[in-house]
Amino acid sequence: EAKRKNRGGYLFYALEMSDKLQEREQLANALSRALRTEQFYLDFQPQVALDTGEVVGFEALARWQHPDQGNIRPDKFIALAEQEGLIVTLGDRVLRLACEQGREWLDQGLEFQRIAVNVSVKQFIETDYVSKVLNTLEQTGFPPSKLELELTESVFMGDRDLAKETMDKLTRQGICFAIDDFGTGFSSLLYLKELPVSKLKLDQGFIRGITKDHSSLQIVKASLQMGHALSMDVIAEGVETIEEQGLLTDLHCQQAQGYLFSRPLKSQLITADKIAQIERNVRLVTEA
Ligand code: C2E
Ligand code: MG
Ligand code: MG
Ligand code: MG
Repeated sequence: EAKRKNRGGYLFYALEMSDKLQEREQLANALSRALRTEQFYLDFQPQVALDTGEVVGFEALARWQHPDQGNIRPDKFIALAEQEGLIVTLGDRVLRLACEQGREWLDQGLEFQRIAVNVSVKQFIETDYVSKVLNTLEQTGFPPSKLELELTESVFMGDRDLAKETMDKLTRQGICFAIDDFGTGFSSLLYLKELPVSKLKLDQGFIRGITKDHSSLQIVKASLQMGHALSMDVIAEGVETIEEQGLLTDLHCQQAQGYLFSRPLKSQLITADKIAQIERNVRLVTEA
């Protein structure tokens, strides 16, 4: 009896494992198919200046519309793309889509300072990364000065000289760099003094706590002080409440991004009217 149960258990386990593997393999195949068939698109999340209320730019966020599974979340497919060696292809696609969209907006007369694009370490350390970026800008006609690349601290845990060289070359063309999820990595802060970084993006993990716990608030204050001393802008990610906005404004945090102002939007929804509406909402709090 026990034996039968056990074997049943094992069989069940084995089936479950192979289910998981199969599911993963299917998703990996679907991902490489998706890259060939235009299932990816970008949503854009507005970023606002807290003092003036102005919408200064947009972060481009990758979206995968699977034909029968619907929308698959980036936390799932970005990691999978990294593991399957598809992140470079995906990243190239994202950059191109962002530049094309940016060009279209400029042609429509929509004003913004920047579009921010997330870059994975594997893309960044490719030997032809600089020329790829410059080619994409040239082919799409998107101005380099309007492109911001978001890197994570993990980039600086590898070859820092190489990172510096790549960043210097792109900086000379007018492209700027932001550090995404600032404060969550394990790299030394030394990179801040050597590399051309113009913006720190405070991770939402810190923002979530600022109106509640002492340590989050102190970390945010210290980051703001450091950013200010190093002439970098600081942007708070994941701002969800009016209290958070008020506090960050009082602390002279330059920029913010979060559901309070706007969720990531389909590009068609980003119009002059929509921007004006977001800006009014930001100012309601600033002027209160
Ligand atoms: P991230 O770059 O830190 O992007 C911010 C994430 O926070 C986005 O999630 C955004 O939708 C979400 N978010 C924004 N405001 C709020 C808020 O007020 N509250 C909450 N709870 N969340 C907010 P998303 O779009 O799911 O992207 C997740 C991550 O996936 C990104 O984090 C980024 O690391 C990665 N990712 C997205 N697109 C790309 C891409 O094109 N390339 C690469 N390499 N990674 C990407
Ligand atoms: Mg980002
Ligand atoms: Mg981020
Ligand atoms: Mg994040």
